[in-house]
Amino acid sequence: MKKITILLPAYNEASSIGLLQVKMLQVAAMNPGYDWEFLIVNDGSTDNTLQKIKELHNTDRRFSYLDLSRNYGKEIAMMAGFDYATGDAVIIMDSDMQHPISSIPEMIKYWEEGYQDVYAQRKSSKESWFKRKTSQLYYNLLQNSTRIPIQKNTGDFRLLDRVCINALRNMRETQRNTKGMYCWIGFRKKGIEYEQLERANGTTKWHFWSLVNLALDGLTAYTTSPLRIASILGILCSLIGFIYLVYILINTLLHGDPVAGYPTIMVTILFIGGVQLLSLGIIGEYLGRVFNESKHRPPYFVNTYNDTQIGESLK
Ligand code: UDP
Ligand code: MG
Repeated sequence: MKKITILLPAYNEASSIGLLQVKMLQVAAMNPGYDWEFLIVNDGSTDNTLQKIKELHNTDRRFSYLDLSRNYGKEIAMMAGFDYATGDAVIIMDSDMQHPISSIPEMIKYWEEGYQDVYAQRKSSKESWFKRKTSQLYYNLLQNSTRIPIQKNTGDFRLLDRVCINALRNMRETQRNTKGMYCWIGFRKKGIEYEQLERANGTTKWHFWSLVNLALDGLTAYTTSPLRIASILGILCSLIGFIYLVYILINTLLHGDPVAGYPTIMVTILFIGGVQLLSLGIIGEYLGRVFNESKHRPPYFVNTYNDTQIGESLK
């Protein structure tokens, strides 16, 4: 029998674990043709999430758990999940159960037809107008800066075949934008639609700044085109500067030098200064990533895997 792992990263989701258990048992009951593994990755929760998932594991061995040494963020929690998942396919879901389990049979159907990455697209977003518009703008920006097709309205809710998991496991960068990676690795993809549910318990872990950070990380992880923009800005400014230089030179030769032009000098200095700072900032963004990646640290450490002490990154 083929085995499917449902990967559930969880950070302070103690209030959701009850619902999670109910839903996962439903999944197993609805799809009896498969072995099921429900792998919950405890991403350094400060509430009693760990205790609850330990209890789950002790009552039903299909629930396994991975306890990370601290909170690493969802991207790294998923990476750890990829390393420890044992299924022939992995379905990634949020532990708050905002992703409907009713999409799972459809995912499996396409997987059996040979698709290796069945991703779920949000049909209608219940997010605020501002959040929707900014995410749309961001997607367009990202898509225009790269040749790899980017999936719109798509998150981590998807079924990945073992080949995709193995591919992703080879990508060990620590500053991760997994959404970009799914696109980057390729393989046969199929989109299905789903309706995002409201969060039933607990609160969201994403706030404005974490979203801004995620967006910037995504951009720098995905494309080097901001560096190109910095170069183009530099060329443009030099060009404008040179033309202005010629103009001043000719003007001075023809009409003498009346010593005016304080406004033009100020404007030029401020403008060039701004462009320089912006370009430095862009370079800095990439340099920071290079610095972090060049340390080659293990991306995460594991406390325990199914009651076994690990203390390392991999099995
Ligand atoms: N999550 C995580 N580590 C974090 C933050 C979030 O593992 O540092 C998990 C969280 O438990 C949930 C999923 O990532 O299962 C999505 O988080 P959340 O529901 O807060 O995000 P939203 O649905 O509001 O975008
Ligand atoms: Mg959520």
